[in-house]
Amino acid sequence: MALAIALTIAAVPPLAYGVASYQLLNGKIQFIADMQAARVSKYIYAHEALWQYQKLRLTELVELHTASSVEIEQRIIDSKGKLVLTVGPFPGALQLQASAPIRVAEKTIGNLVVASPFTQKSLELLLLGIFTSFLGAFAYFGRAIPMRKLERAVRQIENARDVLARRSAQLNEAQHLGKIGDWSYNFGELDVYWADEIYNLLSYQPDTFRPTRDAVMNLYKEGGATRLLDVQAEVIRYGVVRSIDVPVQRGDGTIGHFAVTTKLRTDSDGRKTGIYGTIQDVTDRKTAAEQLEKLAFHDPLTGLANRTLFHRRIDDVFARSKRTGELGALLLLDLDRFKDVNDTLGHAVGDALLVKVAHLLARTLGNAHFVARLGGDEFAILLEGVTGMEECERIAAEIVTVISGMTVLDRVEVTVGTSIGIALIPDHGTTSTDLLRNADLALYRAKEEGRGRFKVFESGMDEAVQEKVALALDLRNALANDEGLSVHYQPQIDLSTGRVISYEALIRWNHSERGNISPGVFIPIAESSHLICDLGYWILRQSARQAKQWLDEGVPAPAIAVNVSAAQIWNSDLVSDVSSVLDETGLPPELLCLELTESLLVDQNETRVRSVLKSLKQLGVSLALDDFGTGYSSLGYLTQLPFDKLKIDRIFIDRAPESERAIELLRGIIALGRGLGMTTIAEGAEQQQEIALLQELGCDQVQGFVYARPVPPNEAIAFALRLDANVLAAKIKDQQSPRAATAQA
Ligand code: C2E
Ligand code: CA
Ligand code: CA
Repeated sequence: MALAIALTIAAVPPLAYGVASYQLLNGKIQFIADMQAARVSKYIYAHEALWQYQKLRLTELVELHTASSVEIEQRIIDSKGKLVLTVGPFPGALQLQASAPIRVAEKTIGNLVVASPFTQKSLELLLLGIFTSFLGAFAYFGRAIPMRKLERAVRQIENARDVLARRSAQLNEAQHLGKIGDWSYNFGELDVYWADEIYNLLSYQPDTFRPTRDAVMNLYKEGGATRLLDVQAEVIRYGVVRSIDVPVQRGDGTIGHFAVTTKLRTDSDGRKTGIYGTIQDVTDRKTAAEQLEKLAFHDPLTGLANRTLFHRRIDDVFARSKRTGELGALLLLDLDRFKDVNDTLGHAVGDALLVKVAHLLARTLGNAHFVARLGGDEFAILLEGVTGMEECERIAAEIVTVISGMTVLDRVEVTVGTSIGIALIPDHGTTSTDLLRNADLALYRAKEEGRGRFKVFESGMDEAVQEKVALALDLRNALANDEGLSVHYQPQIDLSTGRVISYEALIRWNHSERGNISPGVFIPIAESSHLICDLGYWILRQSARQAKQWLDEGVPAPAIAVNVSAAQIWNSDLVSDVSSVLDETGLPPELLCLELTESLLVDQNETRVRSVLKSLKQLGVSLALDDFGTGYSSLGYLTQLPFDKLKIDRIFIDRAPESERAIELLRGIIALGRGLGMTTIAEGAEQQQEIALLQELGCDQVQGFVYARPVPPNEAIAFALRLDANVLAAKIKDQQSPRAATAQA
């Protein structure tokens, strides 16, 4: 041990001093050589064969380097090894050399050699070596140094080294876990120091990638290098600590996100010597942040933009349109019958349908336009940079076509459609509120006109819609307070007996300010504002009560026919409503007939219609197909659905007696009804000749002004009694006449 210490004392200091001096000087002159070679390379313009004859200029260039603290001699040697020029004092026989290539147009045309004297340093080393050898020998032989203490000190140092090694391993581990590595850079040097972990993080190999300052800066992408240089300039100027996120190209070509933290390094005199800091992989954090942002601005179901992002975007579009004069448009979409899909097939199918629609929209519009889901089955599309109204209409028409039709979802067939309201930017609004309202008005109109179509906003839509909205509100109140609504009854007459056999219940509304409003006006409003179900239930209950009262009073033929809107089948549980009304009022089901129009059949998926109608039949009520001939129903429906009665629409009766063709048509319809085993009833008969014709053609029943208008219940009964009395009187007359005749005979 003692010998080892003595040898250490003798050898380590001169060796360490020698190596350090060598490295320091070598680093310095290599740096000077690189720099000078680069400078010469840069300023040589002449032909590559002639460059060396520009000695004066070369000397000037080389002499420019004066900043060095070391004494140097610079030589320029051409590619064949011939000395071209020397500048500076000869450094002596013991010298250190560094050389760097002079390159012009990628070609090495010579070398710049920097030499520095090493004689002085060698002498110093020799003296130091002699001195430490003496010291070592003295320590060993003379035991002049307290060896025990020294041994203990050495052990302590070793311990400390162990601790340090452990700590450094821990630090490495921590860096690894934290995906963080440290770096440092001394001003004037070529290379940046990278901790192992940085190589790891960035997937570079220390033997193939040299982290020079330039090479490192090249790794920062998307303007990252410029931003980082700005930040580091600030760090150097003000001594602050800064951290920025920059995209970095990894060794495998991928881009990751890294936080680069920079701090200033100063020496003991406060001189700024370099910068150092850390690089941390924040790709995961960045991805998480991006996902959060996606959550905040996107609809999780369809992945489309949500309402928040839509509002931001619409503001952008307005700003751009104002700046560039570009035209744009807002398309508001609403799926027809979406609620129905949700209610009958379940939310999973409803969701799948929304995803499908989102997909279709994205495919139809490509990346050119912005699509958002505003909620429920409402979508919005922002068209930007369109040429005009025609283009918007073409796109809207395309969307209507793409979305309407049968879609198969998870083996279930679903029929949907869409209605679109269009508002143009800037014509139909210069604020998002205006634009949205106007597109919404256009959408309302599109739906009202029969769905599955688009409508561009027009001025005036506003007032019409406002009025409807106001009426809907009044109707709601009327219904809630049971004010102004009543039911009138129009008798239905059996043509074979000439007696009333039933009454059609028809709603009447006496508006507190506007007086009587026709059901032709307010029923469609009730339908589009979802009031119809409550209204329908009210009429059903009211007329069933009336019929039961007639029954109890012993009034003849208390059967009633009640109109049912298609919406009641789709948006309410009609079967349970009818059943509870029958229970509550005690009306026998065979006294109730429900009138349904053909529109119900075209619009909806058959399965639901079939099952509701079947359940209604099971309750014991009868069903009439209203307005027959005006809709689109095929004979197929007629034969498959359980209708008891065919109500022939007024247009077939009107003026039929005057037209041979009309008579034939009527004859065909009546024959058809009879052939299917249905009762036929003609509505809207206004003239006596029409009755005669209907009788001749074999129609079973008639309802029309020719007999009676819809009237309050008392009047309806009075009419029926009067008719009965007439019939009775006629019968008596009939019976009396033969007797009179016999008597006379
Ligand atoms: P609708 O079901 O076809 O009812 C027959 C309509 O024709 C009634 O009009 C009736 O007054 C009218 N009418 C009857 N005979 C004649 C005639 O000889 N000549 C002419 N020109 N018209 C005749 P109203 O009461 O104005 O009802 C219009 C429509 O409103 C009804 O047509 C029906 O679709 C709807 N509606 C009326 N009440 C209700 C109701 O309680 N519920 C539902 N859902 N719809 C109703
Ligand atoms: Ca009717
Ligand atoms: Ca009708």
